[in-house]
Amino acid sequence: MLTSRLIKKNSIYRGDSMTNRDLIIRLRQDQILDREEFRQILKGLCPEDEEFLYENAREVREVSYGKDVYTRGLIEFSNYCVRNCLYCGIRAGNPDCERYRLTEDQIQECAETGYDLGFRTFVLQGGEDPFFDDDKFCRIIKRIKDSFPDCAVTMSVGEKSRKSYEAFFDAGADRYLLRHETISPDHYRILHPHGQSIESRKKCLYELKDIGYQVGVGIMIGSPGQTEDHIINDLLFMKEFQPQMVGMGPFIPHEQTPFRDKRAGKLQDVLHILAIVRLMLPEVLLPATTALGTLFPTGRELGIKAGANVVMPNLSPKGVRAKYALYDGKICTGEEAAECIGCLTNRINSTGYHINAARGDCAGFLIKYFVY
Ligand code: SAH
Repeated sequence: MLTSRLIKKNSIYRGDSMTNRDLIIRLRQDQILDREEFRQILKGLCPEDEEFLYENAREVREVSYGKDVYTRGLIEFSNYCVRNCLYCGIRAGNPDCERYRLTEDQIQECAETGYDLGFRTFVLQGGEDPFFDDDKFCRIIKRIKDSFPDCAVTMSVGEKSRKSYEAFFDAGADRYLLRHETISPDHYRILHPHGQSIESRKKCLYELKDIGYQVGVGIMIGSPGQTEDHIINDLLFMKEFQPQMVGMGPFIPHEQTPFRDKRAGKLQDVLHILAIVRLMLPEVLLPATTALGTLFPTGRELGIKAGANVVMPNLSPKGVRAKYALYDGKICTGEEAAECIGCLTNRINSTGYHINAARGDCAGFLIKYFVY
């Protein structure tokens, strides 16, 4: 029964079970696997299969994006947060977090510095800080878009009402990052306090999509309580949701959170899952995250070589960088923005890819947007 199903599904079937290589080829071909097949790949790959996975991921990303790596200038405008996510260093319940918020002028200055350095996407990211109401956000977005109409603005400001999302969109915001963190309710409850739910996160994501944003979902790899089943659920959710962006990095503990003694995610796991997502969603914008660079010195380079095509250097003023501490040991807190982009350019060049200063929209999204 199982055998005939496999034969029907795939011409490369051989023997009783699919080899990892077969599964990688099939994933590339069909852009999906079933649960047990994902499980087999997630269980671990020998070095040859691992390299084969990365090679396929690179080939697939090059079809849509060539050798280009897009940059996003991250502006961490506030570390005040009303939420209490157990993994996060800026959670409301961390009394030792030294809080800051940037003024509207400071945020604009970050964008100006970034524009001069070649950035054409600005990401406004922060804790959920009620000080920034819809009017303030809309003013900030409009000011950036008026000054730099050739730039994209990405919001990463958490769960809001549909009305707020619409207001930001009308003010000119183009993209929205809202990692779902985990699609499995049992796991969501391990990571978040009572009162936060995956249902409300999902509602936000579908609203954002419906409004017309390019939407980013994502997970932390190796977060406390995460099992293979949870990761498979997340992969299947990503396939169903069809996001334009997927943000994934390792979980890294923060000493002032309840997860201070938990283990960080593993480099290999992050790289495997990046490559799997690339094969599953060929056109997705996939960052090699700062957390990956924090976990391992050349983590971002390895991420690019596993199929990632975005980097997000920091544009926040030097004085506040270390205060936006979601996890311990965050890199790039001591340099000016110009130094950061210089360092990152060299790092990307070392991978055989190069930075492309364009806005870097999701390949599939533009076509859909204009054709339909
Ligand atoms: N308030 C916004 C932005 C959150 S910060 C929002 O809710 O979307 C961006 C991401 O950092 C989070 O979505 C989370 O996945 C990640 N993050 C938070 N704490 C982390 C940790 N300890 N290790 C790794 N990543 C973490």
